[in-house]
Amino acid sequence: MRMTVIGTGYVGTVHAACMADLGHEVLGVDVDAERIASLSAGRAPLREAGLDELLSRTVTSGRLRFSTSLAEAASFARVHFVCVGTPQRADGEAADLRYVDAVMDGLARHLRPGNLVVGKSTVPVGTAARLARRLAAVTRDTEIAWNPEFLREGSAVEDTMRPERIVVGVTCPHAEAVLRAVYAPLLRAGVPYFSTDPATAELVKVAANSFLATKISFINAMAEVCDAAGADVTVLSRALGADSRIGAPFLEPGLGFGGSCFPKDIRAFAARAEELGAGDSVAFLHEVDRINTRQRRRTVSLARRLAGGSFAGRRVAVLGASFKPGSDDVRDSPALAVAAAVRQQGAAVRVHDPQALDNARAVFPDLGYALDIPKACEDADLVLHLTHWPEYRAIDPVDLAPMVRTPVLLDARNCLDARLWRSAGWSLHALGRPIGV
Ligand code: NAD
Repeated sequence: MRMTVIGTGYVGTVHAACMADLGHEVLGVDVDAERIASLSAGRAPLREAGLDELLSRTVTSGRLRFSTSLAEAASFARVHFVCVGTPQRADGEAADLRYVDAVMDGLARHLRPGNLVVGKSTVPVGTAARLARRLAAVTRDTEIAWNPEFLREGSAVEDTMRPERIVVGVTCPHAEAVLRAVYAPLLRAGVPYFSTDPATAELVKVAANSFLATKISFINAMAEVCDAAGADVTVLSRALGADSRIGAPFLEPGLGFGGSCFPKDIRAFAARAEELGAGDSVAFLHEVDRINTRQRRRTVSLARRLAGGSFAGRRVAVLGASFKPGSDDVRDSPALAVAAAVRQQGAAVRVHDPQALDNARAVFPDLGYALDIPKACEDADLVLHLTHWPEYRAIDPVDLAPMVRTPVLLDARNCLDARLWRSAGWSLHALGRPIGV
């Protein structure tokens, strides 16, 4: 089948390459000409496991091409996936839908009758219905469906090729049949498929992110209580997670969530619910957000205590810049927020990350950066472990100890082997754990 994918960021690039690999003929479209040039040459503008290979295979085969032209998109295919960003509005907490609207308006001008436009962007409930009315004013017989994206950065290709479910929100049997044909290879492989109305599909996405964000903030709230009570949140979380009704994933206490999805999605959901008169139903999301941002302040304040009460004249090594391991994305990264605050309070900061240094440097040019872990830690008074890359779990604390000035470590992700580090002479600290545990 022929299709276009409009917006070639994290979601669009992966979706386009995966659809081409499933056998479809795909045209990726973006307003960013530099990005399109790089993609056309088979170079991914972002780091994701398996993406480079997939892209070069599908571009070389001719099944995947790229363009900056919506007119070309309209003449290339009758099925169009929309994957542009829906960030938080600058003037409030709601979603900024200007990019989605721009694509719809731009595309509609060129469409002949009989197209299907499928939204993948995360949007406030009611957006598909609003867009359908907007399109109807410009073009005849164009259907709108919503097919929210659930991929996780760090495993985006795997999540697209082997998703845990596919959700489509449609208003007519034709859209349903087209989407079934798009995903036919995955459906044959047994991927669970939920077909519903667009409003429910839009809500599934924000409900899922709200649930996961709530789980993270729940365990971080428990970490705060553990600090007050002298208890150990790492044992608490393991014991909670062992209960099959609760489950261990997303119950890791630490610095909290960031990135381009959870924070803005829970805020946009609360704002939309408010508009619908259902604000009270999801008012708890404001608390989830507050607990989350509090973990960044708590980390900075524990770091300051470990630095002797002030960062002035201190050297601080920061391990991790991306918002999560496996990704080079630094959008709303908790690690960089902490690094910037520590620097702003007077420390000399040197940041290491296995993949995200270029992106980090672009956003925080004033921080120091190091290409390897020993260089980041050289003469450090304090080491902050802020993003839980596997590379950091593989550090030998015996080797690292002679490089720092003072072997003090704050494990803000609660995943380093405390016994190992302590036996190598390090003083190891974490939120939600009594000193020495
Ligand atoms: P992104 O910022 O990485 O990419 C968006 C792309 O859209 C950019 O390349 C931009 O140049 C392009 N664009 C903007 N306006 C355009 C226009 N008028 N025409 C063509 N292209 C245009 O965003 P992303 O992280 O890929 O997220 C896209 C959507 O998917 C968002 O709604 C996000 O919430 C949702 N989502 C993201 C993830 C994730 O992990 N990143 C996961 C699931 C859902």
